[in-house]
Amino acid sequence: MKTVYNFSAGPAVLPKPVLEKVQEEMLDYEGTGMSVMELSHRSGAFQEIIDGAEALLRGLLRIPDDFHVLFMQGGASLQFSMIPLNLLCPGQTADYIVTGSWSKKAVKEAEKVGEVRTHLPDSQHSIPQFSRDDFSKDARYVHITSNNTIEGTRFNGYPDTGEIPLIADMSSHILSEELDVSKFGLIYAGAQKNLGPSGVTVAIIRKDLVGHAPEHCPALLDYETYVKHGSLFNTPPTFAIYVLKLVLQWVKENGGLEGMEARNREKAELLYSAIDHSGLFSNPVLPENRSLMNIPFTADSDEVNARFLKEAKEAGFEFLKGHRSVGGMRASIYNAMPLQGVKELVDFMNNFERELSE
Ligand code: PLP
Repeated sequence: MKTVYNFSAGPAVLPKPVLEKVQEEMLDYEGTGMSVMELSHRSGAFQEIIDGAEALLRGLLRIPDDFHVLFMQGGASLQFSMIPLNLLCPGQTADYIVTGSWSKKAVKEAEKVGEVRTHLPDSQHSIPQFSRDDFSKDARYVHITSNNTIEGTRFNGYPDTGEIPLIADMSSHILSEELDVSKFGLIYAGAQKNLGPSGVTVAIIRKDLVGHAPEHCPALLDYETYVKHGSLFNTPPTFAIYVLKLVLQWVKENGGLEGMEARNREKAELLYSAIDHSGLFSNPVLPENRSLMNIPFTADSDEVNARFLKEAKEAGFEFLKGHRSVGGMRASIYNAMPLQGVKELVDFMNNFERELSE
């Protein structure tokens, strides 16, 4: 099999040991004689999987007891709709800090439900500090995208919203670093970057924020439905939840969030340092807001970008093309990207630059 390093923003690289375990158990899950894909979601074996996934996530993130953990479908994009449908009524206001394309999409859905007050940083390459006084007094919640997958930015410290619940889309960096869950009202993430395969979405929601959806809210868009039925109101994405559980096990075995953060910082520093010391590549993000997960960079012309991408692909570096709205390159280096992958990318970049100047 061809060896590649996968820098995709998502669906993204999964830990090799997880994929090997999936392969090993594919036809016979723990002696059941069946694949996990074939197990009833009402079976004891699947109940153990979903309970195990929740317990692992609770342990890794030290989720306080006054939070529910929910497994849903519809991706992070459906959360853009579910959040206002559950927590905002017509005439009420929610504040959204708009730090990139995904925040904008979240705003669009919230505007269909209630009033939205947006806070737009001057530049998409940095995120200023916000304080309680910046937000509407009567805001039902404040929404942030804590890591901006496309722009390659992240919050450096979360805003103090006082009594107003802080809601964060953590799709592209959940489990990548230490986190104090108690500072948030709701955290959500599509799984396909740091949690597992696409198809499952995780929400960690403070208990007092459940049960506020209006009567006409469809059952599957009401958080309370998932709480009441242990995320098993209807058929959940069983295979994705099984792989997610294996990923969480892998995170635990590899030092938990502390271990992930140390590895992620080392990888990110290596790549940013290579970019900053290069005469060819650059990254526009303010150092304190640089993402540890998604690192955009460009060469000095579209022509050189295209040549870099072509040669990188031939050398086994996959999905390095930047998002179409930003151009250039983007290396997504999620938890499962080994340090060796980043080292080899840096060597490749250095060689490319040297050859170009010869
Ligand atoms: N939010 C962020 C920060 C993302 O990076 C993405 C996808 O890349 C989404 C939301 C959309 O996620 P989904 O495709 O699960 O709806």
